[in-house]
Amino acid sequence: MPAKKPVILSLTKMHEAGLGLLRESGDLRMSSGWDHDTICREIPGAEALVIRTQGEINAEVMDAAGPSLKVIGRHGVGFDHVDIEAATERGIQVVYTPGANMESVAEHAISMMIALSKYFMPSIEALKNGDYFARTKWMGRDIKGKSLGIIGFGRIGKRLGEIAYQAFDMKVQYTDIIDMPANSIERAGGANRVDLDTLLATSQYISLHVPLDSSTRRLINTETLAKVRPDCILLNTCRGPVVDESAVAKALDEKRLYGYGADVYEVEPPAVPGHPLIGRTDNVILTPHNAAQTEESLINMAQWMAEDVLRVLDGQTPKYPVNNPEAVAEARLRRGL
Ligand code: NAD
Repeated sequence: MPAKKPVILSLTKMHEAGLGLLRESGDLRMSSGWDHDTICREIPGAEALVIRTQGEINAEVMDAAGPSLKVIGRHGVGFDHVDIEAATERGIQVVYTPGANMESVAEHAISMMIALSKYFMPSIEALKNGDYFARTKWMGRDIKGKSLGIIGFGRIGKRLGEIAYQAFDMKVQYTDIIDMPANSIERAGGANRVDLDTLLATSQYISLHVPLDSSTRRLINTETLAKVRPDCILLNTCRGPVVDESAVAKALDEKRLYGYGADVYEVEPPAVPGHPLIGRTDNVILTPHNAAQTEESLINMAQWMAEDVLRVLDGQTPKYPVNNPEAVAEARLRRGL
C-alpha cells in the first residue's frame, strides 16, 4: 500500500511552481477562509500549514492543529502574524522565503520615488479629465544626487541602496540595529551608517525596510516626522503599523512632508472611505500591498517555501528557518513527538 501523504493545509493560492511540489508530495487542501474559526476547524490533522499575510497564527491555532503539525511555511517575508515562540515551544518549525521578493520590493520603492518626484498620479488624472494644460501646474524634481535614508538595511534595504546609487548617483545613508560587514556596505554603493535623528534630518527620500516588532511599531510618528525635511518623500513598503498614518496626513497638510508612498497600511484591508491618505493624488501614491506581486517573486516565494516545507516533512533541516531548528528538535523530543 502506498504511504499516506501528509496533509498540507494552505491558506493561500500561489504560483504553480510551489503548488505543484506540494501536491506531488502531500495531500494538499485549500482552506475555505483565513478567519480564526475556519482555520481552527480545518487544521486538525495537518502536518504542514502554508500561509501568506492573512490569518493570525497564534498558539490557539497551533493547539487546534494538534501534535501532527510539524511546519508552517510562510510564502514571503515578515512573520509578525505568527507566534514564533509558541511554535518553537510546540516543536513546530517555521520557514519563510527571505530574499525571494527583494528585487520586486526594492523596485517598487524606486517606482514610487519616481512617480512622486515627477507628479505622475495628478498628471495622469488631469489628462484623463481632458486637462492637457495642467502640464505646467506641477514642478517635479530630479532624483539624481539627492540623499536617500534607508531605515532597516537588510536584504531589501541594501538592494534599494544599490539601485539608487547605481541608477541615480544618490547619497545613500542608512540606520539599522545590527552591525554590517564592510563588504555588504560596499555592495550597496558606499552607504553611510548614521543615527536615526541624522537620517531623518538630512534625507530627501526616506524608505522603510524594517520588520514589524515592538522596536519599529509607529517608528514614524508626530515626533519623528517633526524632524524630517519639508522636501522629504517618505516611503513605506514594509509594514503599515510602522507608520502613524494620521500623523503623515497632518504633516502633508501642513507641508512639513513633501510626499508619501505606501504599499502597506496600519489596518489591512484599509477602510475606504474614511482613510486619512487614500484618495489623495497630488503628493501621495498608494498600492494595495502588491509590491511582491511580480512573476519572479511569486515563483521564488512559492518554490522556496514549498521546498523547505517538504524538507521539514522529510526530517531534513530547512534552508530558510525562522526559529532555530535545534530548539524545535529539542521541543519535539521533550514532547515525545
Ligand atoms: P531583512 O530581515 O533582510 O531586513 C530587515 C532589517 O531591518 C535588518 O537588517 C534588521 O536588523 C533591521 N531592523 C530591525 N529592527 C530595526 C530597527 N528598530 N531600526 C532599524 N533597523 C531595524 O528583511 P527584508 O527582506 O529586507 O524585508 C524587510 C521587511 O519588508 C519585512 O520584514 C517585511 O515586513 C517587509 N516586506 C514587505 C513586502 C511587501 O509586499 N510590501 C514584501 C517583502 C517584505
